Amino acid sequence: MTFENLKLIDPILRALKEEGYASPTPIQEQSIPVLLQGKDLIGCAQTGTGKTAAFTIPILQTLYNSNHKKDIKALVLTPTRELAIQIGESFEAYGKYTGLRHTVIFGGVKQKQQTDELRRGSSILIATPGRLLDLIEQGFVSLKALDFFVLDEADRMLDMGFIHDIKRILKLLPSKRQTLLFSATMPPEIEKLANSMLNKPSKVEV
Ligand code: AMP
Repeated sequence: MTFENLKLIDPILRALKEEGYASPTPIQEQSIPVLLQGKDLIGCAQTGTGKTAAFTIPILQTLYNSNHKKDIKALVLTPTRELAIQIGESFEAYGKYTGLRHTVIFGGVKQKQQTDELRRGSSILIATPGRLLDLIEQGFVSLKALDFFVLDEADRMLDMGFIHDIKRILKLLPSKRQTLLFSATMPPEIEKLANSMLNKPSKVEV
């Protein structure tokens, strides 16, 4: 299996070549076609499996092929600042020839630089829950035009006590959207959360 077999567009194939990726990892091979078809997805995968590229690449491809507007079209919610930065780096690496912009927001730092970036307009927002809710309340972020919602490391989110924040954020999302949930483990609380936010999801386990 190659990335070409997955029908990826040239700007992304070129970036993947530059990254030195020879072929997709199993989670990428299974997730990318499902996501390019517009389906919801539950991915049971640890860090290190290539799960970040498994969602980053189809989001970039779908947004590249849709009309380029300044509204936020994809939201990736992740538990920590480190993960948020890493996911931002993935969008940067795989998306560098797409012209799509992304912004990373997290707490524990002044918000000025983040709000300046948001004002310039980004299609993709990577966020930790608390800072996202803060910036929504202050009117710096609107999620009304959202097409993609990704909940990354869902089990860690719950362990870190983010369930109420997640539920508040879910209420602010358009109901017509594509939703992805990734988790290393699938305890009953995650199954319950998944059932409440996903629509007939495909399940991928690696
Ligand atoms: P992740 O599981 O998303 O944290 O990714 C783990 C590491 O695998 C990252 O450093 C990626 O750059 C790398 N990676 C992701 N996909 C591929 C691939 N298809 N080929 C080689 N390395 C990859």
